[in-house]
Amino acid sequence: MTTERLYYDDAFLRSFDAAVIAVREDGWAALDRSAFYPTSGGQPFDTGTLTGARGQVRVLDVEAEDGVVWHKTDLPLTAGERVRGDIDWERRWDHMQQHAADHMLAGAAWQLFGGVTIGLHLGAEDSSIDLDLPGGRTHLTEAETRALEETVNRRVQQDDPIRCWFPAPDELARLPLRKQPTVTEHVRVVAMGDYEMVPCGGTHPRSTGQIGPVKILSCAPARGKMRLRFLAGMRAVNYFRLAAACAESLAAALSAGLPDACNALAREREGALSRQKESTQRLAQAALQVLEAEKKGSVYAAHLVFADHDTLLGAAREIITRQPEAAALLSCPGKNGRMLLFARGAACRQDMARLLRECGARGGGKPDLAQGSAPDGEALSRAAGLLLRQTGTP
Ligand SMILES: [Zn+2]
Repeated sequence: MTTERLYYDDAFLRSFDAAVIAVREDGWAALDRSAFYPTSGGQPFDTGTLTGARGQVRVLDVEAEDGVVWHKTDLPLTAGERVRGDIDWERRWDHMQQHAADHMLAGAAWQLFGGVTIGLHLGAEDSSIDLDLPGGRTHLTEAETRALEETVNRRVQQDDPIRCWFPAPDELARLPLRKQPTVTEHVRVVAMGDYEMVPCGGTHPRSTGQIGPVKILSCAPARGKMRLRFLAGMRAVNYFRLAAACAESLAAALSAGLPDACNALAREREGALSRQKESTQRLAQAALQVLEAEKKGSVYAAHLVFADHDTLLGAAREIITRQPEAAALLSCPGKNGRMLLFARGAACRQDMARLLRECGARGGGKPDLAQGSAPDGEALSRAAGLLLRQTGTP
């Protein structure tokens, strides 16, 4: 029992007549001939319908086993019945474009860099090739990536013929194949222009021009090799549409032309950072002025209504660095009323974490820095009073 694979002779065949030659209880049916492509060589299966005398069933999955193509259907078929098969052409055409682009990239990577393809993946979003590069390299430079992309797209635009055939053994032995076949009989070969020739049982467009644009998305290390992600055909066109729309709205938001958008964004960010730095410095200065005015001996205690956590920390550090015997008891508005930050200088012996507990605030920390919260200003007043008594400040 074998299935005649109609896509070998004509990858553009969308409809065909066939007979069901076997069925399995788990919903799989074998046909005597089929244009449905079964998952293999990195190219996913076709979907579509089979229509018989009793109606239409959907083909959900396709697999080949020992020369037979099996079709998983949503409703059972009967052995012996005649069916018309129709494949989902949009899905197949997309697969043919991605798969052929895969050949073009693999062939060019071999010629330009000596990269050997060791894995292929045709995904729902994008596709990838894993390359083994000489010297264990796991990336391509930007210039190399561009050279690869340009070579492939130039060859696409040359619109060179793509030919698939089963050469006789003596002819096969003479062919300059990029990779040796993994099977010994009925080896099918695909040739694209004069730059790609490998054994392949997949489906391909008639010429390289039908692949459409090929866009490399990234080259990155993966499992000690290099993984190249790409899009071809309508996927590349759709990606360009999305990327262009993003870039144009970004440029419009920055009131810049498209070529200057990245520089405009960098300038914008630089400006925002410097404004933020200035504002932090102004707040720190204001905090220090308040604290100097409120200080008693070496105890600096104040509630800073305009500050946030970073301002408290900056002001506390400034004080204890300048005056190692000082302690800074600071608060600012916080989530649970007030945020508290107690810090001491290197020459101050009072335990800030203990003080935080004793004044009735929530939180904790270390003897030199403690942080917490309190519902109102009472905890801070209590802490300041305790500390002034402990340090003997009048
Ligand atoms: Zn192929």
